[in-house]
Amino acid sequence: MRNMPSVLVVEDESAIAELIAVNLRHNGFRPIWAMDSVTAQKDLDAGLPDLILLDWMLPGESGLVLAKRWRADPRTQSVPLIMLTARGDEADRVAGLDAGADDYIAKPFSTKELLARIRAVLRRRTPEQAGDALTVGALVLDPATHRVSFEERPLKLGPTEFKLLHYLMGHAERVHSRAQLLDKVWGDHVYIEERTVDVHVKRLREALLQAGNMVETVRGAGYRLTATPAVVVAVAVADKAGL
Ligand code: CA
Repeated sequence: MRNMPSVLVVEDESAIAELIAVNLRHNGFRPIWAMDSVTAQKDLDAGLPDLILLDWMLPGESGLVLAKRWRADPRTQSVPLIMLTARGDEADRVAGLDAGADDYIAKPFSTKELLARIRAVLRRRTPEQAGDALTVGALVLDPATHRVSFEERPLKLGPTEFKLLHYLMGHAERVHSRAQLLDKVWGDHVYIEERTVDVHVKRLREALLQAGNMVETVRGAGYRLTATPAVVVAVAVADKAGL
């Protein structure tokens, strides 16, 4: 896991972008500034940030158009997004949230409020970064002590399997493509084959012992961690049929 969450700041006014960037840096975030939609798209193609701060009024494509596009793209749809705008009326607020924004901040804003909103959205959307213990079914992962247990029995995981499970448990029941897992678990700008994900998923399942079936393969889509694995149902049916 990266310890400094990155924030893509899409804002054409350099004075505001600078103010935001300075405050982000002082508060443990890594800002990436894009002054227009083209640059923002290039930055996103290069690697997914932990959060996007998106100004509504931009030259070229508006923030609203970008928000809709990024929400429609499976690669970017789960990146937390906060819209930033001088347009504060309710219709705009609703349009922003309808486009898939997690939150909405009207200019002028206090940097203190902005940081509080960013932390709140990150806590809500990426619980694995909050440092709290995660529980899915009988599976428990504690990032503070680096311990994993199933039905209160400790499990032994390698470092990559731990990171992979940490991410999957923070986003349980959702399907993640191999590319998304590479982005989120292995980090940006790490060019490794998607097959690597399969290898570590296999190791993770083995390390989880009887909880291994909680990591499901979703054909043609990727992987999902679920509290209610389909395999259990299949086994129950097989038992009933006397197989
Ligand atoms: Ca603007």
